[in-house]
Amino acid sequence: VFANIVRAPEDPILGVTVAYNKDSSPNKLNLGVGAYRTEEGKPLVLNVVRRAEQMLVNDNSRVKEYLPIVGLADFNKLSAKLIFGADSPAIQENRVTTVQCLSGTGSLRVGAEFLAKHYHQLTIYIPNPTWGNHTKIFTLAGLSVKTYRYYDPATRGLDFQGLLEDLGAAPSGSIVLLHACAHNPTGVDPTNEQWEQIRQLLRSKGLLPFFDSAYQGFASGNLDADAQSVRMFVADGGECFAAQSYAKNMGLYGERVGALSIVCKTADVASRVESQLKLVIRPMYSNPPIHGASIVATILKDRDMFNEWTVELKAMADRIISMRQQLFDALSAKGTPGDWSHIIKQIGMFTFTGLNTEQVAFMTKEYHIYLTSDGRISMAGLSSKTVPHLAEAIHAAVTR
Ligand code: PMP
Repeated sequence: VFANIVRAPEDPILGVTVAYNKDSSPNKLNLGVGAYRTEEGKPLVLNVVRRAEQMLVNDNSRVKEYLPIVGLADFNKLSAKLIFGADSPAIQENRVTTVQCLSGTGSLRVGAEFLAKHYHQLTIYIPNPTWGNHTKIFTLAGLSVKTYRYYDPATRGLDFQGLLEDLGAAPSGSIVLLHACAHNPTGVDPTNEQWEQIRQLLRSKGLLPFFDSAYQGFASGNLDADAQSVRMFVADGGECFAAQSYAKNMGLYGERVGALSIVCKTADVASRVESQLKLVIRPMYSNPPIHGASIVATILKDRDMFNEWTVELKAMADRIISMRQQLFDALSAKGTPGDWSHIIKQIGMFTFTGLNTEQVAFMTKEYHIYLTSDGRISMAGLSSKTVPHLAEAIHAAVTR
């Protein structure tokens, strides 16, 4: 019955790794997928994560029963505190419902399914450009996806005027997807003053903010600073959605651990919202996995372990910042034509280089460097040893 089935294309981001794996060159370099690598190019499991796992393994009272539909209670409480702040009035007033979901993607999807079922306005505005999966997640959940201007290729910075115009023209009630920090793929974030203007615009027009927080702590190395945008929106007492991922900031990629929080106007509404979230989750995957959430809860609830985590997180963020500097210095030393200062200005895991599709294809073919065709490079995949190879490839690509 499937004899005529059409072959689907590889995922544009994960497909980069597929191509990389097929390349036998010893100089090959994978700067596609956003996963942290050490200076030696190896995946990293944080010490604090290993320690938490040891504690979980040694605790014989732990069993493998199903979690509730909404996940691990401790994990949910601690996740809300992490993003909204320990002293958040919304948490103290029980106006937040948090459900454990399958990493950032699953949290976005559960939020989107809930909105499609219970919200009166089915249009969601996402930034242009944005993480490639956003369009598919929201469309398949039944929302209608529109974009708002975000990035200005001319300045390699924020198109703030365009953003205000597009969101200003959005129909009242529309949902707006915002990257909490370290915008993917551009690495361009609004300033705090700009966030405040965005907040005022959204609130005055009754637009519903949906934050995607996949990089808390990874942008600045400071967990509170990286949640500032979200906290501004919660401080005004209005509604807000937030999808959290622990993939990057705890290095728990494959554990699929994340959370969806919905901040409501009252505790009663929040509890009714949660009852409906359960109806969304139950037929999708029944209940979330226990291991990753237990690691996170173990770390977040112990002061020592929490502190150890922040130190390791800062070290990852700092290494990325140092890679930015090294790449910028290498291009400057070569005299590569163009202004490359955006490499050190952009924030988070990625640099949106400005290289075009042909230049990317050239770098892959001639230099065995793998990146997404939009010219995004994952700085976390670089090391002092590989920076010269990348700089040479970029130089060759722009001067050929
Ligand atoms: N949102 C953004 C902006 C991302 O970059 C990512 C990861 N690439 C995610 C969400 C979700 O990732 P995960 O499902 O692995 O948590």
